[in-house]
Amino acid sequence: MKYVDEYRDGRIARSIATSIACSIDHEREYRFMEFCGGHTHAISRYGIEDLLPANVRMIHGPGCPVCVLPIGRIDMAIELARRPDITLCVYGDLMRVPGSHGTSLLRAKAAGADVRMVYSTLDALRIAEAEPDREVVFFAIGFETTTPPTAIAIRLAAGKQLKNFSIFCNHVLTPSAIQNILESPDVRALDCVRIDGFIGPAHVSTVIGTEPYEFFAEEFEKPVVVAGFEPLDVMQAILMLVRQVNEGRHEVENQYIRAVNRKGNPRAKAEVSEVFELRESFEWRGLGLVPYSGLRLRKTYAAFDAERRFALETVVGRDNPACECGAILRGVKKPTDCKLFGTVCTPETPMGSCMVSAEGACAAHWTYGRFRDHVRRRAAS
Ligand code: SF4
Repeated sequence: MKYVDEYRDGRIARSIATSIACSIDHEREYRFMEFCGGHTHAISRYGIEDLLPANVRMIHGPGCPVCVLPIGRIDMAIELARRPDITLCVYGDLMRVPGSHGTSLLRAKAAGADVRMVYSTLDALRIAEAEPDREVVFFAIGFETTTPPTAIAIRLAAGKQLKNFSIFCNHVLTPSAIQNILESPDVRALDCVRIDGFIGPAHVSTVIGTEPYEFFAEEFEKPVVVAGFEPLDVMQAILMLVRQVNEGRHEVENQYIRAVNRKGNPRAKAEVSEVFELRESFEWRGLGLVPYSGLRLRKTYAAFDAERRFALETVVGRDNPACECGAILRGVKKPTDCKLFGTVCTPETPMGSCMVSAEGACAAHWTYGRFRDHVRRRAAS
């Protein structure tokens, strides 16, 4: 398939692996964080770590929209869904994310709440149009990739004067999260989590471009390579990062030139800024409150804001104390460091958000990576 097969060619992958092996300094370790869950999934699925030298290590980041949603926001959505006049429209993965006390949207649905799985914001709009007697709320989540479709849905709803449509807004921003990771005590304490560079997200960067990463590449002296989601994209990005580290450079480079440019998509950015404004802070699972990292609807569109419309109180939930999602999302721990991994916690019975979405580090490792664990253990012993 065009634009797929040529980026999954094993022969080229082995040749890039050889270039990486020839480029590395054997006296040091290279630790790169892939911010995005799409890259985490690709790394596990295609066994990319098996192609890397032992001193090149990938650290999973917090770029999975389902994973970073704190438990309190799930509890708020469940509270909304339990109201008799509300239909809550959600993406499928969100239904299985555990809330407090063993709850989830799926369980709320089983108990009678009107929770419906949708594939897009427009599905939710159609439900609102077809059922004017219901209050239809769209559970909006995601990074800069999914924000423009939500903005367009709001503008369409405003144009149609739909009075029974609103969104529960949980859209978050990538650059603020990367900056927060770089400023976190874990990363500043070099012996705890050292990060030598980032693989920047693919789809997010088609919208925002590569420009927003330039500040922290300069400020924190960390190279960033924006990369596509296919295995050869990731391999090439790692080679580009290794070369930057070796040469003492900390630049923003663009591996994904077939889709990303420096300025991004001006139309999509204009749609977003027309409808949304920055929140002063937003809670992320694992990262806590991150300043200016989330969006809410502007006053002009306040009528579509479910939090205002239904006077929703902010809930601060408590994670399952045995779940290590928070530490995994900060890059401090790996899925296999969690005692629940693969025992009580599997994709069928997720105990934390990282086991729900295919982009979550625990789900990706369960689906693909665990089969290679014993090979790695044998090689290390
Ligand atoms: S294995 Fe399950 S419980 Fe453990 S960190 Fe991952 S999601 Fe949380």
